[in-house]
Amino acid sequence: MELIIGRESGVDNPRLAIEYSGKTFFWGKPGSVPRSVSRKHCQLSIDDDAKIVIEDITPNNFMYINGVDCKKKGGVSMTDTIELGPDKYRLDIEGIVKALSSQQSYSISHLREIYDSYQKEKYDIQVYQGKLNALSALPGILSMTSIGLAVFIEKARIIMIAIAAVFALVFALIRYRNASKIPMRTRKLEDGFRESYVCPNPACGHFLGGTPYKELLKNKACPYCKAKYNE
Ligand SMILES: [Zn+2]
Repeated sequence: MELIIGRESGVDNPRLAIEYSGKTFFWGKPGSVPRSVSRKHCQLSIDDDAKIVIEDITPNNFMYINGVDCKKKGGVSMTDTIELGPDKYRLDIEGIVKALSSQQSYSISHLREIYDSYQKEKYDIQVYQGKLNALSALPGILSMTSIGLAVFIEKARIIMIAIAAVFALVFALIRYRNASKIPMRTRKLEDGFRESYVCPNPACGHFLGGTPYKELLKNKACPYCKAKYNE
């Protein structure tokens, strides 16, 4: 997203003029922008990671980031205070970006696969956990059976008790190894989902949380930045 920001030209009471993808949008009330703001004052670039870079267009333009005079390129965030010109016109970056985003439409078809594979993996982990729980009952049953048999078969008593002990140990080890894998697998899944199931608008990039893909498609808009969605 590239914006050129400056003062509206050819009027007595200028507003803020924002050039964006071949169109000019106006911001604020008439007369809200002082003459000390240039017609083309600064350029704002927002990349896919929602990183914002603000740059002076004309060398002698004044620009303040959080009150500090910043002559050239500077990285900023949505919450930084940006002021233009010696009269310190306050630029509402967050408001402007949100308003422009809501005019744009983004394809969300790639989110369908991300959502579906997340749900599938979550289900698989649950099934796996269920199987492990079932397995945990086995050593007890097998040990009891072996000990039970040992009571009747006197000659094999030591062997039976040894078998029972080995069963118990082996199953405990299997369960121990697998149980430690589940939290890791779950965490990896959740982290990956949190990173990829996000609003495709680079200025937003908000995690779309538990909103199922079908619902996003039905609402046709990001619940956070209001950007329009299509399939
Ligand atoms: Zn959004």
